[in-house]
Amino acid sequence: MADYFAAGMSLYLEHLVDWEKLLHLWRGTKVDVESEVSAYRTILETAASLAQSFEADSRKHWSAEAELSSDGGATSPPHICAAYEKLREAGLVSLSVSEEYGGFGLPALLNGIYLEMISRADPSLMMIVGLQTGAATDIEKYGSEEVKRAILPKFASGEVQGCMDLTEPQAGSDLGGIQARSTDLPDGSVRIEGTKIYISNGGAEVHLVLARDAETFEESKGTTSGLSLVMVTRHNQDGSQNGVKVARLERKLGIHGSATCEVVFDGAVGTRLGAKGQGFRAMLDLMNVARLGVASQALGLCEAALHDAVSYAMEREQFGIPIAQQPLVRTMLSAMAVDTEAVRALLYRTYKLVDLNTAREAALARDDISVAQRVEIQEELERDNVRVRLLTPLCKYFATEVCDDITRDAMQVFGGIGYTMDSDVAKLHADSLIMTVYEGTSEIQASFALREIGKGALNVMFDHVRGELKEIANDPKRAELAKRVEEMSERVDEATKVLFSDINYALLRSKLMVQMVIDVVAATELLHQVPFDERRLDIATDFIIRRSLESEHFGKRIEAGLDGRVERDARLLELAVESA
Ligand SMILES: Cc1cc2nc3c(=O)[nH]c(=O)nc-3n(C[C@H](O)[C@H](O)[C@H](O)COP(=O)(O)OP(=O)(O)OC[C@H]3O[C@@H](n4cnc5c(N)ncnc54)[C@H](O)[C@@H]3O)c2cc1C
Repeated sequence: MADYFAAGMSLYLEHLVDWEKLLHLWRGTKVDVESEVSAYRTILETAASLAQSFEADSRKHWSAEAELSSDGGATSPPHICAAYEKLREAGLVSLSVSEEYGGFGLPALLNGIYLEMISRADPSLMMIVGLQTGAATDIEKYGSEEVKRAILPKFASGEVQGCMDLTEPQAGSDLGGIQARSTDLPDGSVRIEGTKIYISNGGAEVHLVLARDAETFEESKGTTSGLSLVMVTRHNQDGSQNGVKVARLERKLGIHGSATCEVVFDGAVGTRLGAKGQGFRAMLDLMNVARLGVASQALGLCEAALHDAVSYAMEREQFGIPIAQQPLVRTMLSAMAVDTEAVRALLYRTYKLVDLNTAREAALARDDISVAQRVEIQEELERDNVRVRLLTPLCKYFATEVCDDITRDAMQVFGGIGYTMDSDVAKLHADSLIMTVYEGTSEIQASFALREIGKGALNVMFDHVRGELKEIANDPKRAELAKRVEEMSERVDEATKVLFSDINYALLRSKLMVQMVIDVVAATELLHQVPFDERRLDIATDFIIRRSLESEHFGKRIEAGLDGRVERDARLLELAVESA
């Protein structure tokens, strides 16, 4: 049986996070680091064995869908409800809620690993617990103390679930199109009118709704200003129904167990989170948590696909040998394994930074640090916020695109049976296809990353990376590889100069650019892993050789395309329109 507590996860729990530094910064020097890490280990071990126990049922009931419930909500299929109940009994549904509100206050890295494990077993179930984290984190950040005391313990215990309501028919990637209306009421609450579509877990009790303020409705239309983030519960405090109803459920290609809902707000009364008109900022925080969550979801699915493909290829014989021994299959499997680890490297590195920044914010809020420490922590926080803002879209982009490829390659390894429902591998691919779309499509992630690069984030990130590579180069085993990664980073700098000479061209090429940046950062992190597990030298070597050749090629494409590419694309589109 597969071990859901993967070696790459232990590597970070046991070696690659400086827990003492992190926890002292976060909670002060009195914290017992050893017992905290031991508690983390227990949580992850429990989560791994529970998630593992869900896998068979999840695959068996893959096509089971949510149903509308008589009280205007939606009910998940029985296997999802049963798994959620088990997680709830074990106290494992909302791990990142702070201890003062009944949660574990689990670091983002470990919560990400937990989501990855759940997704490996069941990406639909992961939608529920992932949104649980995202919604609770946003409420904790933007809710009043009264709201937090009332709702967060219910999130931590799993009594309520959450969802995020952004998308409308005319407002998908462009949230400036939002038309749901929020009107202030005399008692300080807010009334919501409007319809949201494609809302995952839209039958949940707690909705975080992005709506346009009534007073500035007309003048703010088409922009993300004048939006408020409003928490709306399906039931009022006295148990009566609020004006929130799931009007219909979508039928989909995958993640059938996750309810995708059209939600109608008809005079629903809620509470604003954060400042009026500043809802987009607050929702961005939730979306960034959710983007990393989707990256974890994709990574979990990569592991599932890799495991299925390797197991099958070791057993299936053709031409007298297991197909895993056929060079073309073997190389496909090894590339899948390496790419999975590259996604992990980029994602865990990002989570580590997110945790460090949370710890810094906590330290700055305490009074047990000196003025000099305060200045230093503030500077580091600002610098690393820049890095996280760039890394977040890179993680979402890379993890979900790789997941599409790996689940598809896994189907190929299975041959004909992979296309049938006699194997599970097609289900994994079908589930993967949404991940490059929700929480902002790959194109939107690439353009967000480009915007951050345009603001100077690349220099901040590469300054750091180059310092790390210099240190790594002191180790003779890794020196040559570090040099290659350094060269890859120089190529990115060259490409940036070409790209930013024409912003339209930069947008057109943003995916190439983004991949080149991802490769540098993921490669650096893979090199960090080697001293703790010598076998990882092969992983780093394979990734760096493959990707440095690719980055050379991408760099050439970026240079070569500058002249005439934008105009040619426009002419080709005209041709396509004519022939369509
Ligand atoms: C199963 C499922 C679950 C979902 N869950 C939620 C949820 O819980 N909450 C929620 O609010 N929403 C949810 N969504 C909605 C989802 O986030 C949107 O579908 C997604 O953001 C894309 O918006 P759209 O469908 O309107 O596509 P569009 O915005 O119309 O995009 C169509 C195409 O155009 C491209 N495009 C658009 N603008 C640009 C640009 N500026 N540059 C380059 N390319 C561009 C896109 O990349 C895409 O390829 C969900 C959707 C699905 C299918």
